[in-house]
Amino acid sequence: MSDPDPTSSAEPLVVDVAIAGGGLVGASLALALAQLRLRIALIEAAPFGAADQPSFDDRSTALSNGSRRVFEGLGVWPLIEREATAIRRIHVSDQGRFGFTRIDAKEQGLNELGFVVVNRAMGAALWRRLSAEPSIAVIAPAKVQSMQLQQHEQRVECVLGDGTTRVVQAKLAVAADGARSTLRQSAGIGASTWDYEQVALVSNVLSQHFHNHVAYERFTPSGPLALLPLTEGRMGLIWTFRPDTAKEMTDLSDADFLARLQSEFGFRLGRFTRVGSRQLYPLSLTRSDEYVAERLAIVGNAAQTLHPIAGQGFNLGLRDAVSLAEVLADGRASGGADFDAGDGMWLQRYREWRAADRSNIVRFTDGLVRVFSQRLGPIKLLRDVGMLAFDLMPGAKDALAQLSLGAAGRVPRLARGASLIT
Ligand SMILES: Cc1cc2nc3c(=O)[nH]c(=O)nc-3n(C[C@H](O)[C@H](O)[C@H](O)COP(=O)(O)OP(=O)(O)OC[C@H]3O[C@@H](n4cnc5c(N)ncnc54)[C@H](O)[C@@H]3O)c2cc1C
Repeated sequence: MSDPDPTSSAEPLVVDVAIAGGGLVGASLALALAQLRLRIALIEAAPFGAADQPSFDDRSTALSNGSRRVFEGLGVWPLIEREATAIRRIHVSDQGRFGFTRIDAKEQGLNELGFVVVNRAMGAALWRRLSAEPSIAVIAPAKVQSMQLQQHEQRVECVLGDGTTRVVQAKLAVAADGARSTLRQSAGIGASTWDYEQVALVSNVLSQHFHNHVAYERFTPSGPLALLPLTEGRMGLIWTFRPDTAKEMTDLSDADFLARLQSEFGFRLGRFTRVGSRQLYPLSLTRSDEYVAERLAIVGNAAQTLHPIAGQGFNLGLRDAVSLAEVLADGRASGGADFDAGDGMWLQRYREWRAADRSNIVRFTDGLVRVFSQRLGPIKLLRDVGMLAFDLMPGAKDALAQLSLGAAGRVPRLARGASLIT
């Protein structure tokens, strides 16, 4: 952290880029932009490195190989590598139906399809890296309240933990402040939200048999259930329910909960022996109406919040962040001393670049939720055909494996393992 006096409210802080939200995406963006030698302010509502920071809780996230490479480029990967568990196979099945489909890293010519890391570990690593970057002023805890467009800059007003106000003047403001983004609303940009009327129950479980680096996705009558391999043989459970059932499931005793899980998942991993605390996350699809405005870019959950069924939300949000950083890197290389990070030309490039990736992933994820949430006859049939098609058509499996790689469309340099600055 380099802000000399983040509590002083007298003078506006003048920077090139002000990022609202220091969650997984905002923090990653700040680190990428630091490579461009821009002055950056990162404004986060939770205290610096706090354990209860919402983006860095006990959930586990499946990282694509592309995201792993981005973290390598940002110097974050060495700090989390030991806590990351490789996914070597994905096993997809549908309860009460024949067959399953399997995606194998080796068949795809890969060592692993991705990695699973607990959000808390990613948060700690990101904050450690942020602390070491002199060009990033972390202002936390501070809530962005409003933003005003002035002639050549955005004036972002935030309220610090002690109640005083701080103003940040930036050439470019970035909304990375999550699904209910204050910055997005301040710019008058709407968002459409579709409530899935589903809740994700998240916990960690232990089973009799080692997971052997397999991630399981199982479609059960109550909703999709994912088990992700973690360190020490644990598995991260993400199980989707209707809201009333989710509440019942959290109220069950550990033994009853494990028995229910056992009956829905079966004995592929032997007996489930332990379950940790259970957390609930209401699920909806939110899409921002616009992804840029004058001197404003929107990234991560502030741009789109997805159902976790396909584990794509953060991977997509990270691609938003590093695509924006790449556009600015190229702009800086061509613009020299006159470079203006908020120039509409860069924002337009960012918007055009992101459109296809975003709509592909939103369509894929939303389609998966809808097909597997329905119980009606014709859709059931579609599901059967879908599962079969998966095994019969290598193309479909490749498409999913490509998503796991995070390699659809034009891939940002950092996600390819190349340097941000050419
Ligand atoms: C159960 C579950 C499982 C998931 N699993 C996966 C997975 O396996 N793979 C994957 O890719 N994705 C997954 N996701 C999605 C992933 O968690 C999100 O995409 C990711 O957290 C988005 O990060 P973000 O930084 O954009 O937003 P957020 O995590 O919402 O962070 C926003 C940040 O902004 C801060 N903030 C908010 N308002 C303000 C304000 N006014 N001023 C200042 N700061 C503010 C917040 O404190 C927070 O730190 C999952 C999501 C859920 C719910």
